[in-house]
Amino acid sequence: MKCLTISLILVLSLFTQTSGFRCKMEPIVLVHGGAGDIPDSRVPLKIAGVKKAASLGYKILRNGGSVLDAVEEAVKSMEDDEAFNAGYGSVLNLDGEVEMDASIMIGANLNSGAVTVVKDIAHPITLARLVMEKTPHVLLAGVGANRFAKDQGVPTVPPGSLVSKYATEALEDFKEHGDNRTEIGDVGTVGAVAIDSKGRLAAATSTGGINGKMVGRSSDTSMIGSGTYADDDVGAVSTTGHGESIARYCLAHTIIYEIKNGSSANVATSKALKGMTAKLHNTAGAITISKSGGLGIDFTSRRMAWAYQIKDEIHFGIEHGQHTKEKAGN
Ligand code: ASP
Repeated sequence: MKCLTISLILVLSLFTQTSGFRCKMEPIVLVHGGAGDIPDSRVPLKIAGVKKAASLGYKILRNGGSVLDAVEEAVKSMEDDEAFNAGYGSVLNLDGEVEMDASIMIGANLNSGAVTVVKDIAHPITLARLVMEKTPHVLLAGVGANRFAKDQGVPTVPPGSLVSKYATEALEDFKEHGDNRTEIGDVGTVGAVAIDSKGRLAAATSTGGINGKMVGRSSDTSMIGSGTYADDDVGAVSTTGHGESIARYCLAHTIIYEIKNGSSANVATSKALKGMTAKLHNTAGAITISKSGGLGIDFTSRRMAWAYQIKDEIHFGIEHGQHTKEKAGN
């Protein structure tokens, strides 16, 4: 009898490992609003923005939408929000222009799409999704990406309309004082990761880059494996912080690698961030969901806004060690 029970357990566990069968998972959309030296005056705006984005994404999942729809919707809401460095409110390049990057990935088949150095598009994340769905490519850049947007009927906004007052002041400040800070001052790259009840994963990230960057600079956010990664067999990650360091360290994929090697989402996220900061002396943050629904939220910067909703409860934070819960609105 004992022998029969053990054999049954063995057969069942083999079946779940090889057949792709997964237990029912609690759907989650986890978002971030950028890691860095966020000034006190910007904290309430960032918290309100991440809570709204997490809630919107969660609603999509609850109403039967896909993880891809959920991460896109969450990111779009932060692209519209001036409090974040993505879409409207993006930081400016040295010529005072907004040039944006975004990427998106599906864990089921590793399909991914990205855009870099795009102008005058309100939702670069939607354009990244179209690159994934409508082209044979992973990444489109600059004029080519903007031409593709036009072909796809993605509306463009008038030149200069994504430039906010705050971003203009930040560039003036940069030109006057230079950037000798170790943390990125004007931050707010946005990202989202999601898991549905069947364990399907997706990730998305969008940014205006770094204040005072050279014209034409591409960021980690447009690079699959650095800014964004999702694999249903492992987990989903979105990163933020010093882009050149994140790119050199392939931060998103390093977190995936740690999970593959047996770490929880939480440990993998912290370990990779600490490793990057120790080696490259710059800061970053990341959000992670593992295939089993474990969460990782950490940053080596001073602050990073994050939020997620589970059932009717919103969880959020921005300081190290902060984890606040409250009842979600509907
Ligand atoms: N990683 C972004 C970049 O370097 C900035 C950020 O996440 O705040 O463009």
